[in-house]
Amino acid sequence: MIRLNNVHKSYGNGSNSLHVLKGIDLEIEQGEFVSIMGSSGSGKSTLLNILGILDNYDEGSYHLNGTLIKDMSEKQAARLRNELLGFVFQSFNLISFKNAMENVALPLYYQGVNRKKRNKIALEYLEKLGLLPWAHHMPNELSGGQKQRVAIARSLITRPKIIVADEPTGALDTSTSYEVMDILTKINNDGITVVIVTHEHDIAAMTQKIIRLKDGVIAEIIKNGELKEWKHQYNKELEIA
Ligand code: ATP
Ligand code: MG
Repeated sequence: MIRLNNVHKSYGNGSNSLHVLKGIDLEIEQGEFVSIMGSSGSGKSTLLNILGILDNYDEGSYHLNGTLIKDMSEKQAARLRNELLGFVFQSFNLISFKNAMENVALPLYYQGVNRKKRNKIALEYLEKLGLLPWAHHMPNELSGGQKQRVAIARSLITRPKIIVADEPTGALDTSTSYEVMDILTKINNDGITVVIVTHEHDIAAMTQKIIRLKDGVIAEIIKNGELKEWKHQYNKELEIA
């Protein structure tokens, strides 16, 4: 499903260039729940943006469902994003002057679905996420956790195969973070691949596989069974650094 081979990415050019990803090899299969960790500036968002076809890379290859994602027109990229991907962000990215239902329905608006139909489908997704009573509330009338659930409903409405989420719990308190992770786990149980970026061990520990970025490469991949020992090691390393 997701295959990266020796992927490199730099920002800027000449003497100002910053080499962020220095040869990433990564495979993620359909149905996996993966987290990406690493210190601030290690390239987590850069990697996630490449996975989500939101940004280009310079060298290597990225195959998504067998399609080589390289030098695509914006139109091709948009079609693939629409077909395969859903996005969730730390800051929710809801449109402030649209209510929850209209926010969830937005991807269908871009697909040309008429208002009545898209609002009906949006209400179904809001119901799935326990948000029906808030359907006509504006984003500023919702809690952080509710906003993120609206954003998750919006990401699901196009029936994606993969959800990519950059620090989906970054703006939430601990108990709300766990609620959001429970929702992402349920989504994953339905067969959707979920890839998140997080700073927090306890959040990462709720996924099946942790990918740790360091110095532009994957320093290690930790599977679910190995988490306990790893947490200890990782904490020690952070203390030293
Ligand atoms: P954080 O945990 O703080 O979100 P991150 O691991 O997500 O960090 P990235 O956002 O991927 O890190 O950034 C990696 C490096 O690339 C950083 O040094 C950042 O300043 C730089 N960078 C990111 N985006 C750009 C850009 N559009 N132009 C120039 N430099 C960038
Ligand atoms: Mg980031």
